[in-house]
Amino acid sequence: MLIKRILPVFLVLAVAVYLIARYRGPEPGVVTKIDKSNLEKYWKSRDCAVKEDQFHLEKNGASLTSRFRIQNFEMSLKIKTTQGAIGQINFATSKSYDEKHSRGYSVVINNSDYSTGFAQKTGSLSKIRNNFVRNAEDNEWFDLNIIVMGNHISVSVNGKLISEYIEPANAKRLENLTGIVLSRSFISLRKINEQGDIVIGEMKIKPVTEEIAPILPTVKIDSLQEVIDSLNQREFPLIDFHVHLKGGLTMDQAHQHAMDNGFCYGVAANCGLKFPVTNDSTLNIYLKSIQKEPVFKAMQCEGREWVTLFSPEAVAGFDYIFTDAMTWTDQKGRRMRLWMPDETFVDNDQQFMDMLVGKIEGIMENEPVDIYVNPTFLPAQLAARYDELWTKERMERVVNVLLRNQVALEINARYKIPSIAFIKKAKEAGVKFTFGTNNTKNDDLYRMEYCLKVIREVHLTQEDIFMPKAKADRKILKKGLPAAITG
Ligand SMILES: [Zn+2]
Repeated sequence: MLIKRILPVFLVLAVAVYLIARYRGPEPGVVTKIDKSNLEKYWKSRDCAVKEDQFHLEKNGASLTSRFRIQNFEMSLKIKTTQGAIGQINFATSKSYDEKHSRGYSVVINNSDYSTGFAQKTGSLSKIRNNFVRNAEDNEWFDLNIIVMGNHISVSVNGKLISEYIEPANAKRLENLTGIVLSRSFISLRKINEQGDIVIGEMKIKPVTEEIAPILPTVKIDSLQEVIDSLNQREFPLIDFHVHLKGGLTMDQAHQHAMDNGFCYGVAANCGLKFPVTNDSTLNIYLKSIQKEPVFKAMQCEGREWVTLFSPEAVAGFDYIFTDAMTWTDQKGRRMRLWMPDETFVDNDQQFMDMLVGKIEGIMENEPVDIYVNPTFLPAQLAARYDELWTKERMERVVNVLLRNQVALEINARYKIPSIAFIKKAKEAGVKFTFGTNNTKNDDLYRMEYCLKVIREVHLTQEDIFMPKAKADRKILKKGLPAAITG
């Protein structure tokens, strides 16, 4: 009889499915503190030293892996790193670690200074929502919270949301990354390098076992979003280094826009004569007010007078500083602002161009800035003849001064400058690049369209992109300020 033969097989299968499906973790819906009394019950530890209820991950590969499978959970940790330590918290991952075919999502633990160690910093949802901003420091306790509910992932550091992601249905992944999808699976904490220690001072988890309905992503996944997503999956630093809180745009709105789309932002204060930040004391007040914000802190050096208004020590509080060559005084003593048609005087086109190139050279040579922004901008009177007026010789002079002074060149999304030809020349010479939108209000951040086009057309790689320097290496401290204004 067929049924006699099938029934036992069916029963064995049913029991197996039940055993796998059965949840065996800490009590659902309740926050459970993981300490030495229950560690072994719920977690499999490897090279993890327990000292006074703290878990120490020191060796490369030291790990804690859950013995239970869960999809939805809230996890909160108090962590301290020492110099150079890098770790990750994985979820929707496999029980055993396989570097090549990683499964699930990975949250980065790394508090190294800029331009040292791994570029992604704590709170980064690696390859999906990369974070390059330091929000915690070595040798200091920080809070890390991870919440996964349905298809919504959020990662916070010290109470600030750093990464947020809504996994769409049929999420597109690069060939080797198809395992980055949510599932009911394991959670692991792992140290992934030799240097430093990771100390977990407190670890709490609240498992949620009921089904959570998926929500719709906040941004439409169109072809541009697919480009952004695939660059993120390649860990290309999609940082907009030139964002302003103007026209009512708040820090939270700007950061949300960045997270929704898959960018990181640098927010710049306009600092100079007749600007809100105009001396060391207003600079320090400003910096303190944004200290905990999850963005790069940037200074836009205004006019040419800024070099006389601030001290290098105060300026070095910013992650990087930049200026443009749109404000200067011509040979006849007229202070011009090139974006204001009634404040710009072009007596002779060629003479004007030569004067402009000379001003750019003077500024980049003398002012200790990290980035030349709104670069190669031409006033309205000349803009239509950009390709003709930016001759090979003029381009080369600008490229050379940037290279000599280690100034990065902004690829400006708003003005769509410099031209592709200019950027190609700069890349060949070895100039570093940044992306910048230079928004004017709260609804013109867009999605770095021109920059994304340049990445593709000029084949920019991660190595072509500027990164802020470590605190002690900042140019403003090494080079100091010029004794007099440049032009
Ligand atoms: Zn600006």
